[in-house]
Amino acid sequence: MTHELEHDVIIIGAGAAGLAAAQQLKTAGVKALVLEARSRLGGRIWTDHTYAPVELGAEFIHGEHAATWQFIEPAGLEAETWPRGRQKGQAYRNRFARQGRLLTDDTLAGRVDDLFEQVTTYTGPERSTGDLLLSLAGSDEEAALFVANGLACMEAAEVARLSASALSQERALNTAGWENYHITAGYDTLPVLLAEGIEVRFDTAVTQIEWKERGVQLAVQGGQLLTARQVIVTVPLGVLQSGRPRFLPGLPPAKQQAIEHLAMGHVTKLVLHFNQAFWPEFTFLRTDGFVLTWWPVGTAAAPALMGYTGGPAALKLAALGQESAVEQGLQELGQILGNKARSAFIAGRLVDWSTDPWSLGAYTYTPVGAGQARADLAAPLAPTLFFAGEATATNGHLATVHGAIETGQRAAAEVLAAR
Ligand SMILES: Cc1cc2nc3c(=O)[nH]c(=O)nc-3n(C[C@H](O)[C@H](O)[C@H](O)COP(=O)(O)OP(=O)(O)OC[C@H]3O[C@@H](n4cnc5c(N)ncnc54)[C@H](O)[C@@H]3O)c2cc1C
Repeated sequence: MTHELEHDVIIIGAGAAGLAAAQQLKTAGVKALVLEARSRLGGRIWTDHTYAPVELGAEFIHGEHAATWQFIEPAGLEAETWPRGRQKGQAYRNRFARQGRLLTDDTLAGRVDDLFEQVTTYTGPERSTGDLLLSLAGSDEEAALFVANGLACMEAAEVARLSASALSQERALNTAGWENYHITAGYDTLPVLLAEGIEVRFDTAVTQIEWKERGVQLAVQGGQLLTARQVIVTVPLGVLQSGRPRFLPGLPPAKQQAIEHLAMGHVTKLVLHFNQAFWPEFTFLRTDGFVLTWWPVGTAAAPALMGYTGGPAALKLAALGQESAVEQGLQELGQILGNKARSAFIAGRLVDWSTDPWSLGAYTYTPVGAGQARADLAAPLAPTLFFAGEATATNGHLATVHGAIETGQRAAAEVLAAR
């Protein structure tokens, strides 16, 4: 067993939060070592470049004021409004399909938007979003279905568990804006920028964190021990919930309860590549199938459709396995859009974040009664152990890349203040 000399700061995780923390410390003249379990940067930012850049994890910069722009703009990285060519504030062109047929009812999009607005601006006592939705929808079962599916996708949530008050408060707190952007060369260019000048050790999973008043000792897979004056943990909630890494002594009750009370949501991405863009124009095609939402990705030369499914439906799709999920997606698209779906098909890929061992879920949501949990999860322990990562965002920017960046910057400021 080897034992290195003490490091100043060690950061666990080379995702957006960990790398942003490392950059902030570097600016303050403090050297941080980043330990990463995977063999790549970015965590839940992961781009497939086989045909054209297609995002298997985070896809959009959500918001014209997102913290992400701090890094994108000075580096001159190109980011385009999404959908391509859309003017700011211009309405999305959503289409809906049920039981394999495109719906032609022109009032549906408006009814869905109105109901969504009512649900997400709720101000009453704590209750579940599913419950609220049913009471607000009245007899409009169709609008309720598409709002429920939409929320399941956006929030990665089981709407029967999702807190209606937390959802509306989080949306009200959002200062990042509501426009969406794609990074043209791929989202994975961002972690590369964030890692500039930072030492990252790959394939280095931390298995145990022994924290004390003065310093922290980390055990990594393979048995190596490292010590640091201060440590920032950015491990995703799903991994913390699985009991990894082990904390010695155990975490205090408030922290442990926060880990248990918050929910790690589920998302599957089903990417289908085609030799031509055979579909009619739409921003989102929303369905009641196995795959809940489709949108166009890729380029004119390498068109693809992104099938996005969140909440319990994501687990159902993932349970089919790679081949059957691709087949299911093709079949559903074929029913809705015609035979070209099959004849133009080149290749497909299912990405299931819930079985990814270093994520064990897609992103977090706030269940009923867990309103305090993010603050408890974010709170430092002793002057030595600090917490960041999207789950710790208390400003409404949870479940996003810019939110993760902000939590990393917050944790770095806490590290500096504790010296
Ligand atoms: C399918 C999907 C779609 C999304 N879409 C968007 C979007 O469009 N826009 C947006 O803004 N956000 C989106 N998100 C959310 C966004 O990706 C995350 O909020 C953000 O990337 C999280 O960053 P993080 O640093 O907190 O965590 P992560 O990126 O998960 O980084 C944590 C790192 O810790 C590592 N790790 C875990 N355990 C250990 C261990 N024991 N030892 C060492 N390392 C460890 C992991 O490998 C990982 O690299 C999406 C996420 C998913 C999954």
